[in-house]
Amino acid sequence: VSRVVLVLVERSGPGVAPSSPEAVPVARTLAEGGPVTGLLLGRDLAPVVESVKGLGLDRVLIADAATLELPRAVAYAHVIAAAATSTGASVVLLSSTVFGRELAGAIAAAWDAPASTGLTEIASKGPDSILATRRVFGGRAIERLTLAGPRVVLAIRPNAFPAPGPAAAPSPTEPWSVPEIPPALLAGERTEFAPARSEGGPELSSATIVVSGGRGLKAPENFAMVDELARSLDAAVGASRAVTDAGWRPGSLQVGQTGKSVSPQLYIAVGISGAIQHLAGIMSSRVIVAINSDPQAPIFRVADYGIAGDLFQIVPALTAEIRRVRGR
Ligand SMILES: Cc1cc2nc3c(=O)[nH]c(=O)nc-3n(C[C@H](O)[C@H](O)[C@H](O)COP(=O)(O)OP(=O)(O)OC[C@H]3O[C@@H](n4cnc5c(N)ncnc54)[C@H](O)[C@@H]3O)c2cc1C
Repeated sequence: VSRVVLVLVERSGPGVAPSSPEAVPVARTLAEGGPVTGLLLGRDLAPVVESVKGLGLDRVLIADAATLELPRAVAYAHVIAAAATSTGASVVLLSSTVFGRELAGAIAAAWDAPASTGLTEIASKGPDSILATRRVFGGRAIERLTLAGPRVVLAIRPNAFPAPGPAAAPSPTEPWSVPEIPPALLAGERTEFAPARSEGGPELSSATIVVSGGRGLKAPENFAMVDELARSLDAAVGASRAVTDAGWRPGSLQVGQTGKSVSPQLYIAVGISGAIQHLAGIMSSRVIVAINSDPQAPIFRVADYGIAGDLFQIVPALTAEIRRVRGR
């Protein structure tokens, strides 16, 4: 049976969030030949529309309105629910980014549908039934869910699904007139927005590659080696709690149970022992590489590749080699 799938395209600055394209092949699978429509929301979207055209969607609705200038989940959800209803969608698919997770719940409420976030596998089980899988308890357990009913909201984990190649033909875009939003949904005002980014690098929780440093670096100035390795790979920088507690790096970079959960294609742990609370934040990573001088360190039990050796020798050599191979 074919379905109508509405894919939410998340804006990121003048372009599309890196995780949004990953939803398109998933949508195609779920649609089983049915139409896959994109929806882009915000204000002054003209610069973003060009990047949306390359996503390989059947068409993209552009919801451009002053009321959507600030990313207010409840206001967005009101509009998304209206678009889902008017396109006859039975699935709303989005990325499980920080905003996506908040949005998924709000859409579920506005559209009377079940929602699930952080999904790593999705399959159709019948006309009104979808099977989904996700990791829970910091990656230590796998949960399988059946979402039944005529409407579902599904948020997929960034980097869990392969991004598609370039689209054969540009997707047609069309302005979509935004319905009036009840004032109560617009009541929250953002008074400040200061992204806590790792110096110019990608955002930690959705990065494709993460390089994290731990106490094994011995002193705050040595953490620059981790920054350099990350830069050579265009990776985000993370840290163990030992590092953030010591004030070597801000708490926003902490990875683990009480920090951020990451799910990159590649996680490199430098001088990190692999305490259970750290592992809780990294177990959804596709490939884990550990560099640690202690061959008994618990990080090696979860690492796909390990280098048992002195990070002060290995990390600079690795960075130099990556630079050489990448020609930069
Ligand atoms: C409630 C609670 C919540 C917590 N939440 C988190 C969390 O969210 N995230 C988190 O990270 N931690 C968390 N922790 C702390 C966690 O238990 C560990 O203490 C912490 O992760 C240790 O950080 P580390 O691996 O950097 O340091 P260490 O455990 O001290 O490990 C340093 C490692 O560096 C290696 N090393 C030393 N010198 C070298 C060298 N020259 N070359 C290579 N390797 C070297 C050592 O062999 C060692 O394995 C939490 C703890 C509690 C109790």
